[in-house]
Amino acid sequence: MAEIHELSTVLANQIAAGEVIERPASVIKELVENAIDAQASKIDILVEEAGTKSITIIDNGDGIAPEQVTRAFLRHATSKIVDRNDLFRVHSLGFRGEALPSIASVADVVLETAVASAKQGKKVHYRGGELIEEIGTSARQGTSVKVTDLFFNTPARLKYLKSQHTELAQIVDIINRLSLSHPDIAFRLTHNDHAILTSVGNGNVQQVLATIYGVQQARKMVALEAENADFKLKGYISLPELTRASRNYISILINGRYIKNYQLTKALVKGYGSKLMVGRFPLAVLEIDMDPLLVDVNVHPQKHEVRLSKEEQLMSLIEEAVAQRLGSENLIPNAYDNY
Ligand code: ADP
Ligand code: MG
Repeated sequence: MAEIHELSTVLANQIAAGEVIERPASVIKELVENAIDAQASKIDILVEEAGTKSITIIDNGDGIAPEQVTRAFLRHATSKIVDRNDLFRVHSLGFRGEALPSIASVADVVLETAVASAKQGKKVHYRGGELIEEIGTSARQGTSVKVTDLFFNTPARLKYLKSQHTELAQIVDIINRLSLSHPDIAFRLTHNDHAILTSVGNGNVQQVLATIYGVQQARKMVALEAENADFKLKGYISLPELTRASRNYISILINGRYIKNYQLTKALVKGYGSKLMVGRFPLAVLEIDMDPLLVDVNVHPQKHEVRLSKEEQLMSLIEEAVAQRLGSENLIPNAYDNY
């Protein structure tokens, strides 16, 4: 056997990238989540050829101080948590400090950033994990990141990418969910210079639903609210007449984070009882607020999956709330008066 040795930083980052960065949509998810964590109120996402040619994210958030920019590209370097206690009470979308070093290790990345108070901003260029250039720039508060040549040095990953159509669908899905979970942020997604989604960012979830599904469909969604001692639910669910052939149009958010959880989705669908035809599923966006101590987000590198204490109680709350909402009163929504 060969001698045991530590892997180089670049290789270690490429291995981490294998878990975090699967496809162009994962790059977009990570970069947009960084913009959200930086308190941006406006996020532009420009994509060429489903992200295989280029991905550019521009935000008007806090920015990064010039002397800290290269630190942001170090593995496990983050400004979002400090100690073990923070890990159990994560309030930000990121906390693992893996995204920037992972992306920079498998692509060409140019990041330009400035904080409000600074006289100068900073621009850094990484390719395949190596810092190529670092220069001062003029100050404009916020951050822009341009990613090109994704997976240029990991041919297996590049080959594994699906058609542009599929990759773009994944991107649109992520941006839909992020804009639904952050109605107070103005998102703009552009593909090959065509506008795909523009949300106004006025905090109105119904308006985001209308942007994504069209006004007619959004009118067929009704508000849902429920709570018990541990959980607070808020969202919109479609009337039984508005359905799709897959569960993909159900977005579940826990404390502002979009997650995948089959059990909770199942509970929501179960609440419809016999109102749905076999193989049909509702559209829904459901925000769940709970004590961060009840949810472990540190389960999976992509943070899609979470572990919940009291999952069964939450499932009953969801199922009952949906059943009650659809069973009660007339099913004609009147919440659209101001729309
Ligand atoms: P994480 O988000 O888990 O902290 P990242 O690798 O995604 O790790 O980012 C590293 C750090 O870089 C963040 O903690 C943050 O301080 C900074 N950062 C990244 N993107 C932005 C952005 N768009 N605006 C401001 N700061 C950012
Ligand atoms: Mg991040």
